[in-house]
Amino acid sequence: MGTIFDLHLHTTRYSNCSRLSPRAAIKRAAKMALDGIVITEHDTPWGENEIEELAEIAKDRNLKVLVGQELRGYREDGSIHGDLLTFGFHDKIEYRPSPREIIDTVHQEGGVALAAHPFRSEFGLEDDVYKLELDGIEVLSPHHLILDTMKAERVCEELKIAGIGGSDAHSKREVGKFLTYFENEIKSEKDLVAEIKAKRCKPVSYREAVKLRT
Ligand SMILES: [Zn+2]
Ligand SMILES: [Zn+2]
Repeated sequence: MGTIFDLHLHTTRYSNCSRLSPRAAIKRAAKMALDGIVITEHDTPWGENEIEELAEIAKDRNLKVLVGQELRGYREDGSIHGDLLTFGFHDKIEYRPSPREIIDTVHQEGGVALAAHPFRSEFGLEDDVYKLELDGIEVLSPHHLILDTMKAERVCEELKIAGIGGSDAHSKREVGKFLTYFENEIKSEKDLVAEIKAKRCKPVSYREAVKLRT
């Protein structure tokens, strides 16, 4: 049996735009019978000890909690170029990086970088996804209209990179709206990075996730 994860969530701990506390995220995800969540705060990594504490709480509820980041890429003129989800990367980037700099830095650390909601206006990489060495792309996102999702699916096929789904939750009700189904079990961040690299995953809605389960 596969594993179902929400790979894109913001909590009140480090994303001041979020109304979702880490504990509430865990509770909600466990109630929805997800296998795990990845907390992806804006431009901020969680500390090692903080993760452990949270992982213990989640363990009692049969849920895996991992931590990634959502890093914002900028153009040379300072304007926003697009957001990237990164996994297996724990440093804080102290300047305004370009998407290419983010990807290179994350790859040097052995992590993966994926385009977050690529066709969301202002915050997506749009067609620049074709120019970058991405490991994957968020196909299902609440910020995508149907045509955006179709475009993202095409990018996935053409570039032969991983496709994922993420809720981009900032509140309890948004958790798990879009998800990623992994063929294998994800027990650690290492597994997550490896499975994305191997493209053994697909974007699913919560409804599809429930069907895969039953
Ligand atoms: Zn974003
Ligand atoms: Zn986000």
